[in-house]
Amino acid sequence: MERGLRGDIHSQLKMLISYVDQLPTGDEHGLFYALDLGGTNFRVLRVQLGGREKRVAKQQYQEVSIPPHLMVGTSLELFDFIASVLAKFIETEGDEFHLPVGRQRELGFTFSFPVGEDVVAELSKAMERQGLDMKVSALVNDTVGTLAGGRYMDNDVVAAIILGTGTNAAYVEHANAIPKWTGLLPKSGNMVINTEWGSFKSDKLPLSEYDKALDFESLNPGEQIYEKLISGMYLGEIVRRILLKLAHDAALFGDVVPAKLELPFVLRTPDMSAMHHDASHDLKILGSKLKDIVGVADTSLEVRYITRHICDIVAERGARLAAAGIYGILKKLGRDKVPTDGSPMPRTVVALDGGLYEHYKKFSSCLEATLSDLLGDEASSSLVAKLANDGSGIGAALLAASHSQYA
Ligand code: ADP
Ligand code: MG
Repeated sequence: MERGLRGDIHSQLKMLISYVDQLPTGDEHGLFYALDLGGTNFRVLRVQLGGREKRVAKQQYQEVSIPPHLMVGTSLELFDFIASVLAKFIETEGDEFHLPVGRQRELGFTFSFPVGEDVVAELSKAMERQGLDMKVSALVNDTVGTLAGGRYMDNDVVAAIILGTGTNAAYVEHANAIPKWTGLLPKSGNMVINTEWGSFKSDKLPLSEYDKALDFESLNPGEQIYEKLISGMYLGEIVRRILLKLAHDAALFGDVVPAKLELPFVLRTPDMSAMHHDASHDLKILGSKLKDIVGVADTSLEVRYITRHICDIVAERGARLAAAGIYGILKKLGRDKVPTDGSPMPRTVVALDGGLYEHYKKFSSCLEATLSDLLGDEASSSLVAKLANDGSGIGAALLAASHSQYA
């Protein structure tokens, strides 16, 4: 982390400066919009913020899937489409939302990839072409958005972690602990850092033959190594590779290796999770999943137990590695142990979001248990892991508010 903050080009963590030096306080007022652009769909959202008393007085959102032909077309067409949806959404703004006379509507934009400022320019131009008078006041990635949304809900939030299809973490760093930051120190003294931790790799991070093969055959070999051990995109695929090896070497599914098991990504993490959570005495759910996915009709109880055990090993490794990452951030912030000067341990909240964390119970409970183990009883008693469900959309609107041109 320190190497990344120094700007060392060999650093395994990018530690990107987010330019968000001000997180929501709860005092935000007024009407703000957000646009959350994910992989296959996007959400538009508006909130009426009512300050400390009324908080989020009213919010509405709309989710739109992106037509496939736009995903492969030019970004110009994509942004035109997005701006047109946004324009229609604004037309439905009801009386509960108030824009003071003479003001421009403001938008926070969540974009889940590390990007430059040109996305703002592209979106702004598309909005102009639609005749939309709106200003993009904040551009953040989903992890930074989640941190902002989390902080608004709970003032003790210091970091946000995404565990979904991919994984990433952002946290609040002291601005004077970022040697590569050469600008003026922000008034708040803080700067949100987007770690891009998914791309971490290290000799100290052991990779199995399955991990190495998965990486080698992936679209981005050698990249996103930590993510490939942890996130929802890959956990099921690792399990598939282990099952395939056992099918070949130990005839796990009989004399013939099931053809479907040869298909990369045929076993998805939600299916892995369903198999892993099967608590029935004969592992019936697991059996029917194997039938549906792998195409083997009859599996013995022993084979089902082995399969569940593999899910357990892969999920546990991912969860423990994710917990280690969170522990690393807490350690960097000095929140990993009770202060030696006798002052009480500050309450520390970590906001978590993403389908993997939200839906894969055995993964999330293992992550939390590991974090407690690493911190020890005393420090872990002041730590709270909070699900910040879809915090990134509202987080972007809140950042538009705290970075408003009228603030
Ligand atoms: P994204 O990360 O694409 O923005 P989400 O945060 O909704 O979207 O996460 C979706 C991912 O979460 C899926 O790709 C899948 O890997 C994982 N996921 C969703 N549901 C489950 C489940 N029931 N069990 C395990 N993993 C799940
Ligand atoms: Mg997401």
